Amino acid sequence: MIKTRFAPSPTGYLHVGGLRTALYSYLFAKKNSGKFLLRIEDTDRERYVEGGVKNILDSLYWAGIVPDDGVVIGKDGEIGEYGKNGPYTQSERLPIYKEHADKLLADGHAYYCFCTTERLTQLREQQTAKKLPTGYDGHCLSLDPVDAKKRADAGEKCVVRLKMPKTGETVFTDLIHGEVRFKNGLVDDQVLMKSDGYPTYHLAVVVDDHLMGITHIIRGEEWISSVPKHIQIYKYFDWPVPEMAHLPLLLNADKSKLSKRQGDVSVEDYRQKGYLPEALINFVAFLGWNPGTEQEMYSLAELVKDFDLAKVSKAGAVFNIDKLNWFNKQYIKKL
Ligand code: GLU
Ligand code: ZN
Repeated sequence: MIKTRFAPSPTGYLHVGGLRTALYSYLFAKKNSGKFLLRIEDTDRERYVEGGVKNILDSLYWAGIVPDDGVVIGKDGEIGEYGKNGPYTQSERLPIYKEHADKLLADGHAYYCFCTTERLTQLREQQTAKKLPTGYDGHCLSLDPVDAKKRADAGEKCVVRLKMPKTGETVFTDLIHGEVRFKNGLVDDQVLMKSDGYPTYHLAVVVDDHLMGITHIIRGEEWISSVPKHIQIYKYFDWPVPEMAHLPLLLNADKSKLSKRQGDVSVEDYRQKGYLPEALINFVAFLGWNPGTEQEMYSLAELVKDFDLAKVSKAGAVFNIDKLNWFNKQYIKKL
């Protein structure tokens, strides 16, 4: 069965770009009689915002995007969970990530790194001064794994890094971008487990997408450069790699990346200003997709019927507020 997910980090509010990611994931699942899951990615404790989960869920439900599984709002209006693969909030899954990191370590696919922040800062400064690409230099790769484990078990501060092959290429076929290639030598030995015992996004996303049965990963283009790391982790675990679709960036009218400075970016802002959910959904659906016909007015149900990932464009989509206002006017007239 087709299963997609939306995996926001609770950093405050739902960005319109996030709404589009959620919408496309929802539409793709519904169109294929699959399931749409919501997972909360809260492993970055520094970016955590109290009430962030509630805000995101409220905005999604307001827009009509209701998850089948994962973190949901129950009939009582309280945040809860539904589904067999929970918990669906990453901070409640720490033992699962530890177990998987330990497996990678035991198999020699990951290693402990004891480098201090000072050393890493210095390294970055030296690389920058020499105009070299910045990244970890593999300093701790040569440590004896048994010794390193003893040090880590004794409580010495360390992280766990992915052993990324330094030769060859990682190639995959993105449903929107087609064939994408990355030189492995340019990919960093990514930190998988931080010294605070939390996984990084990269480990958690792969472990969860696999354990939660995700077949299609649909997300913003900013994540495409992380894919070679993720594919390497899938390979090390001997897991199938899900299909992936990376959505085009959202741009301001001047083609810069959509930002707060040039207007509202949160769904909540539009809601408060009186935009109808039908209008915002219809507008957002067209940020990167169109049916290839004259039809512009689309309800959520019609989108489910006509949406096609293959028709999503690679080029950045301009956020045109006049168009949103036009949609809103049409829906207000309909009322
Ligand atoms: N937690 C990530 C975000 O906030 C999700 C990226 C992904 O979908 O893999 O965008
Ligand atoms: Zn190190």
